Amino acid sequence: MSDKKTVIVYQRPLKPDLMARLEQACHVLDFTGRSNLTRDEEFLAALPKAHGLLGASVRLDRALLERAEHLEVVSSVSVGVDNYDIDYLSSRGIVLCHTPDVLTETTADTAFLLVLATARRAVELATMVKNGEWNASLDEPQFGVDVHHKTLGIVGMGRIGQAIARRAKFGFEMTVNYHNRSRHETVEKDIGVEWKPLDELLATSDIICVTVPLSEQTRHMFGQPQFEAMGPDALFINIARGGVVDEAALITALEQGTIRAAGLDVFEVEPLPATSPLTRLDNAVTLPHIGSATHETRYAMAELAVQNMVAGLKGDRPPKPFNWDALASS
Ligand code: NAP
Repeated sequence: MSDKKTVIVYQRPLKPDLMARLEQACHVLDFTGRSNLTRDEEFLAALPKAHGLLGASVRLDRALLERAEHLEVVSSVSVGVDNYDIDYLSSRGIVLCHTPDVLTETTADTAFLLVLATARRAVELATMVKNGEWNASLDEPQFGVDVHHKTLGIVGMGRIGQAIARRAKFGFEMTVNYHNRSRHETVEKDIGVEWKPLDELLATSDIICVTVPLSEQTRHMFGQPQFEAMGPDALFINIARGGVVDEAALITALEQGTIRAAGLDVFEVEPLPATSPLTRLDNAVTLPHIGSATHETRYAMAELAVQNMVAGLKGDRPPKPFNWDALASS
């Protein structure tokens, strides 16, 4: 019998070369492509054998992980770790790994895609063309608003926030301000951005872009008072997580013109239900959570996730452990 440790791979299949690398080091159980994984009897039955779990986009809560008594490493193919009970994992000595950096530039591109599409009403107007409804040259009712030289407010000046700031500052010659729980003075100097209290940032920005992780502190950070503070010309862009926004309040703000428009890659419930008013509002650009979804970046994320898993199961420090400090101090 093999003495290799067992890893469950779920959600998306790995490319053959990455699967081969993982199989060289571990015994792999493939649960990719299954819907409703957390209720899948075979998956639940396999959990007690697992030393590692590799995947993303599934909420692995405490009750589920209690079944995985031999679990040593959770390797998430994502930078966001809001699907995991981090304190619980740390208390059991389980290493939680993630995939920062390799997706930063691609996700910043997605943010700018949303900024431009929202400001220039690209989806609404392209749909008009596709529907054969472009009958005359366009006039004021269809005009968009400029992006270049406007003021961008970034909420969450981390890796992705900084990549967005560089695009805005050096590509579009925008004024860029930010709010973050800590000041980043090097970033302020290097990119030329200014920290502001959240209220002031919202009131003085033409475009607000959200890039904070979802946590107990950031859940519903944006609701009716924040949309009112932004004002009727504001564009609101969310590429972080749906839970950072009170979606019902956002829908009301879009319907009532409290803000001009929103560009959204993430939602409180994903996939976004077809019944959501966001699917019919012209002033909401809705993408199906494609922040990092390019061939190159998804490969790089999966590769890093495999490296994290292999190192973690060997007992080495993985390249990108999220809870290393918590493990060390427990
Ligand atoms: P990061 O480098 O950790 O940056 C997050 C920033 O948010 C940090 O600067 C952090 O401040 C700040 N922050 C955290 N809590 C805050 C709070 N309560 N108030 C104000 N600022 C706060 O992470 P990242 O790599 O840029 O990724 C950010 C998030 O984007 C991820 O967690 C993920 O949810 C999301 N994301 C989405 C997609 C997508 O497909 N749409 C793709 C990638 C990432 P400190 O400097 O004080 O820590």
